[in-house]
Amino acid sequence: MERYDCVVIGGGMVGAASALSLAQLGLKVAVVEKVAPKYFSVEQAFDLRVSALSLSTEHLLRQLNAWQQIQQWRSCCYRRLGVWEQEIAYTEFNAKDINQDHLGHIVENRLIQLSLWQQINEHPKVTLYCSNVLASFEQFPEAVELNLTSVETDENVSQIKIKTKLLIAADGANSQVRQLAGIGVTGWDYKQAAMLINVETQLPQQDITWQQFYETGPVAMLPLSGSSESANGYASLVWYHKKDEIKRLSALSNSALTEAVHKSFPKRLGEIKVIDKGAFVLTRRHANQYQQQRILLLGDAAHTINPMAGQGVNLGFKDVKALQTVIATAIGNGESWHAPEVLGQYENIRRKDNLLMMSTMDALYCTFSHPSSLVRSIRNAGLFVANKVPFVKNKALAYACGVSI
Ligand SMILES: Cc1cc2nc3c(=O)[nH]c(=O)nc-3n(C[C@H](O)[C@H](O)[C@H](O)COP(=O)(O)OP(=O)(O)OC[C@H]3O[C@@H](n4cnc5c(N)ncnc54)[C@H](O)[C@@H]3O)c2cc1C
Repeated sequence: MERYDCVVIGGGMVGAASALSLAQLGLKVAVVEKVAPKYFSVEQAFDLRVSALSLSTEHLLRQLNAWQQIQQWRSCCYRRLGVWEQEIAYTEFNAKDINQDHLGHIVENRLIQLSLWQQINEHPKVTLYCSNVLASFEQFPEAVELNLTSVETDENVSQIKIKTKLLIAADGANSQVRQLAGIGVTGWDYKQAAMLINVETQLPQQDITWQQFYETGPVAMLPLSGSSESANGYASLVWYHKKDEIKRLSALSNSALTEAVHKSFPKRLGEIKVIDKGAFVLTRRHANQYQQQRILLLGDAAHTINPMAGQGVNLGFKDVKALQTVIATAIGNGESWHAPEVLGQYENIRRKDNLLMMSTMDALYCTFSHPSSLVRSIRNAGLFVANKVPFVKNKALAYACGVSI
């Protein structure tokens, strides 16, 4: 039976980053992933799933040597962030105000994963079990034994047994590891759903991302990288609304949806043409424990958050960084890096931070979807005042970007 220091279930963005970050410490790591990401070529249309990556995520991806490849493929840098409900309360955040060149980048999730996989494939300490899923595992005081099954065809199903000191669940919101370990979650489904819509814009590539709030939910524009052959740009629009309305919008043809976007989005979007669309339910889940003996939960396996402020995967990457720091410190101090008390420090650090961000998003969600005209006046006054108080505004911005000022 092959033995590893760490086995990561789920080779998505967070799982792949955690595997690399632990291999950087000299640990022998395996990653188990169900589906390989499709290769990239420049003529491919933009994927629907994109993420607004914060500055702290960029730092981590640089440290993992994955950032350069992402930039060579495609990404869109944004320097400004506009937020408003009523025009009078329009608030704009600028990278210059927190002494940064930019606030973040919009990148397709697949490209983030692929660039990390490139590094994994070249790293002598990481083994990838791709097209494999976890079938079962058993915990012993000193190790966890796992049974993997291949997901090829029924005739070719093969079984693999491996053993590890630490099992990392990075298998997403419906984490099988979390369920098999009997770790419960608290959470709920939001009343709103979201639609992601990729569009071609008449405006050229922009350096701003913006969000306008409505009681039915916000609408947002995330710029995508433009094309060198056309003066037009591309963008990912996010349309939050009641579930029934999102269902109705999803059923429209691209040209009918183009009309609907023109009617409902702010004029500053300009003329657009819908290229692709997809709908997503929004859930909040928080695992009751991030650690159970030799099992740790990271990323969406531990927490899913309202994507309103684009923080979900950024929190997952912060989990990765915290785990790497805790284990590096233990190794540096000559301690047993996989002792439960060492691993418990990871939960202590991350639970508070994740909870704070989840609660902030929920407060925003409740405040901006409240129908009362009094609450509307208060929230617009709040944005108006925030715009006039640079200290408050810049602190909030630095927190969202994951930098300190
Ligand atoms: C509409 C929407 C918009 C969003 N926008 C943003 C944004 O702008 N910025 C941001 O930071 N976040 C955003 N998020 C959140 C972000 O997409 C997630 O936080 C992120 O995808 C979580 O990454 P992960 O690696 O933890 O999990 P996942 O991306 O779910 O990856 C899990 C991986 O595990 C694999 N897997 C699952 N089960 C098994 C198994 N049993 N065996 C082997 N492999 C398995 C899966 O194939 C997958 O590759 C958004 C979310 C939504 C819904």
